[in-house]
Amino acid sequence: MEAEVTAGTFELVFSEKKLVGLDKLKGVGPKTVRVLKSRGILDQRDLLLFMPRKYKRCGHFLMAHEMMQHRVGHVEFYAPIVHVQRPSPGTRQPLRVDVDYEGQIIKLLWFGKLGGSKNFSREMRPGVWMHVTGAVNYDKSIPEMSHPEFSVLGDSAVRMPEDFYTVEPIYPSLEGIKSAMLRKAQLQALSELLPLLVDIVPQDLLNKHDMPGIGQALYTIHVLDKSQDVEVFIENLKRAKKRLKYEEFYTLQLKLAKDYAAARETARAPELTDRTRARKVLGNLPFSLTGDQSRAIKEIAANMSSNYPMRRLLQGDVGAGKTVVGLLAAAIAVDNGYQAALMAPTDILAKQHLARAEQFFGDLGIRLGFLGGSLGAVAKREVLAAVKAGEVDLLVGTHSLFQDDVEYANLGLVLIDEQHKFGVEQRQALLGKGTDPHLLAMTATPIPRSLAHAVFGDLDLTIIKEKPPGRQPIKTVLRTIARAPKAYDYICNRIKETGEQAYFVYPMVEASDMVPGRKNVIEAAKELSEGPFADLNVGVLHGRLDAATKESTMASFIAGEINVLCATTVIEVGVDVSNATMMVIESPEVFGLSQLHQLRGRVGRGDVASMCVLLAGQTITEDAEERLVSFQGTDDGFELAEVDLKIRGPGLFLGVRQAGAAEFRFGDLHKDAALLSKARTDARKKVLGAGADAASSVDEF
Ligand code: ADP
Ligand code: MG
Repeated sequence: MEAEVTAGTFELVFSEKKLVGLDKLKGVGPKTVRVLKSRGILDQRDLLLFMPRKYKRCGHFLMAHEMMQHRVGHVEFYAPIVHVQRPSPGTRQPLRVDVDYEGQIIKLLWFGKLGGSKNFSREMRPGVWMHVTGAVNYDKSIPEMSHPEFSVLGDSAVRMPEDFYTVEPIYPSLEGIKSAMLRKAQLQALSELLPLLVDIVPQDLLNKHDMPGIGQALYTIHVLDKSQDVEVFIENLKRAKKRLKYEEFYTLQLKLAKDYAAARETARAPELTDRTRARKVLGNLPFSLTGDQSRAIKEIAANMSSNYPMRRLLQGDVGAGKTVVGLLAAAIAVDNGYQAALMAPTDILAKQHLARAEQFFGDLGIRLGFLGGSLGAVAKREVLAAVKAGEVDLLVGTHSLFQDDVEYANLGLVLIDEQHKFGVEQRQALLGKGTDPHLLAMTATPIPRSLAHAVFGDLDLTIIKEKPPGRQPIKTVLRTIARAPKAYDYICNRIKETGEQAYFVYPMVEASDMVPGRKNVIEAAKELSEGPFADLNVGVLHGRLDAATKESTMASFIAGEINVLCATTVIEVGVDVSNATMMVIESPEVFGLSQLHQLRGRVGRGDVASMCVLLAGQTITEDAEERLVSFQGTDDGFELAEVDLKIRGPGLFLGVRQAGAAEFRFGDLHKDAALLSKARTDARKKVLGAGADAASSVDEF
């Protein structure tokens, strides 16, 4: 589902082909060309995109406050005279002229004969402007300049010279090339090419976002307009930079939108318009859908009724209630005579989905099947045969759903839960089991919308923000391991009083995995059951147990027979036991923010106030502490994802695989997210017209 695009495609388009080699530029020899090439500057176009590192206020002109703040030794400025005091004849007093430089009085002094000469100071009188250059002495209460160089400009009507302030671009230095030479070559390229630039962004969009054309933007960035006022320049520079970022985002989104449109033309997905039984499922639910859930299923239903295969990502924080939405989509597929496959990353979760499907579908005659690692050979063969014969309507399972030996009669919908746990190939393999089936991927990893757009391209997004009613915020407390006995005490009492249940999470399975200071689940469970929880029932769950044991342990926990479940991160995804209200995470510093959030999402799933206790090691890094503190501060997964993104950057956030698509030359996915989504909306509108979002006009399920 990831589009094959490399972000950072920044293309300048010219009205005629005039890109000549660098060696054709005046004053550029073979050696320079070699150096430029080694730095990725291959032609004149690249010279245009070779960006200044910073800007310098040109020459000696400083703002008065800068001059004062930095006590600049040598200055040059224009200022009007406010006071002239000529020496009384016969004294050794100096000639004193006060000028007002942007509100700062500066005293100019001339001693001796010169100062005494009437002729010398004849033109100096209040209101007259002077141009002054020289050294400043800041030791006195008023800064002084003795015998500065000057010229008297005339009365107050005199305007400051146009280039009173100028800025100069400073480029990254390229070893072996003189900057003056590089600039000369660049100016040649600019003067030849800028007039030929064709804007790929249409004028209406430039107006809409108040952005300059591409030529004007580059003109500003390379500071070709010398007569600019600094304030104006800074403003223009901002707009120019925004323009380049927009250009980059827009180019990418245009390509994605075109791919999207092209795929639509050859679309052959099943049009699933019947919703008879799907609507009946609503009546079977023990709750009514939240507003966000209803909106989600409407969008999904609209997608599924078109012959263009749905590619939708359903995002919702843990506990938001994504499963029921997925199951409703499955019912739609079945209503129309197609099969649906629901894939989950663990056996435990797949089993749980199967149980939910049984409960929600009730007696609607939707035939369910299960395929997973825990299945025996005979049972497996039976399921495979039934799926192939079309006798199973919804097949729930794990990675086994896309294995070679699975054949579907007519797969119309693929549902992937916890999609971030699966690779692209795995998704493709399952999709390949049908003819352009619809796809609904579900995830609690709140990929920020900007990232999803940039990385997943033409994927449609549905976000469930609203939690089911009655949910209480989870109270999270951060303690050191030294406080563990107190926490155990509290939990033990609460279990005995209320019958609620608890999870204990550990980063390791057994002692041989031991990293000093970190506990493993097997030993810890033993210690707990022999010590603080001696009169409670303690269970153990981790990935190295066989499938049958995992299943029976989970079943006893669901049934409430196990009070305390000690587990590794196998419980991270999807597990839904609403009576479990307490969670203790040991060595929380080894987990990432998203993972912690997933884990914590196992509690707080009912209407009783839940808690999560982090028992951190005695010595943890500052980074880890920062992470844990922000985790304690919010249980909003989207907010945490933002923090995570800030700490780790898009590359790490998404995993190495997807990082390439998140790299832009000018834009920053995080900082410029708003601009990216504008570019996306604009590009889609240009390519797809009014029907940019197929689902936007549908309001019925
Ligand atoms: P997730 O989005 O994390 O996959 P689930 O689908 O597991 O969340 O839902 C969490 C719990 O909330 C389940 O017990 C589910 O039955 C319940 N639930 C879902 N939707 C609603 C709703 N609209 N009202 C009340 N409870 C709901
Ligand atoms: Mg789930």
